[in-house]
Amino acid sequence: MKIGLIDVDGHRNKKTGMVFPNIALMKVSNYYKQLGHEVEHAEFGYYDKLYISKLFNFTPEIDKPLITSNEIHKGGTGYDIQKRLPLEIEVCDPDYLIYPDCDFSVQFFSRGCIRNCSFCVVREKEGYITPVKPMNLNPNGTHIEVLDNNFFANPEWKSSIDYLLKENQKVNLHGVDVRIMDEEQAYYLNKLKHYKQIHIAWDFPKIDLVPQITEMTKHIKPYKIMCYVLIGFNSTPEEDLYRVEKLRELGVSPFIMPFNKAEVYQKRFARWVNHKAIFNTVKWSEYR
Ligand code: SF4
Repeated sequence: MKIGLIDVDGHRNKKTGMVFPNIALMKVSNYYKQLGHEVEHAEFGYYDKLYISKLFNFTPEIDKPLITSNEIHKGGTGYDIQKRLPLEIEVCDPDYLIYPDCDFSVQFFSRGCIRNCSFCVVREKEGYITPVKPMNLNPNGTHIEVLDNNFFANPEWKSSIDYLLKENQKVNLHGVDVRIMDEEQAYYLNKLKHYKQIHIAWDFPKIDLVPQITEMTKHIKPYKIMCYVLIGFNSTPEEDLYRVEKLRELGVSPFIMPFNKAEVYQKRFARWVNHKAIFNTVKWSEYR
């Protein structure tokens, strides 16, 4: 059989020129290749089965009129939050050969989350946090993107750290919850080799995270930390400015996540904070 894959969100990163690999499609590829079938990114012609993945609601559909198939499988949060891969495909390791330019690995040690933030679909999609068995790494990978939603909330976080230290590659942890971070976790976080700044988040202005972030900076140098600040969802402009200025005082780099990118204030505030040359030289009162 000929199997076609379409990664609707798979646009090239403007800086790296690389496409972030789609794990579901890599598993589909591995599953069918093991059965002896031909698998490729669908561009043109007839496919016995076509798998289309879309992770984000806002990604526009891809128009590929030259592709035909009698069996189309659509999946991903962008189509249906409840839809799952069949178990026999889910348990497969990812096939990195369909992303030959990819020079990193993607990894999960847990799915789900302990929290249920009102703006986030993780709990609805993946449920409460559950440890999972790590997948094979990319043989051509030089660092690991760790995609856990809440790395340290995993009851087995220590064995995940052991795994990462043993692999001895740089890591990019996507979900570090500073609200639960204790001294031991901060110690081990600092032992990892980081690919980029460590990302934390201060989404709720009513929760004062200054003590936790201050504690974290006792173990990890503040310039190594970047803090996402959600605006336009449940905060006033004064609360947005307070969080950003507190982070500046602590030496931590703020990064604004506007809830509605089209709203003028949110767009402007995000531009002020996220363009560091502006943020470091111009006050908000002057910029706005
Ligand atoms: S902590 Fe992060 S992953 Fe967990 S529910 Fe909140 S936003 Fe989602």
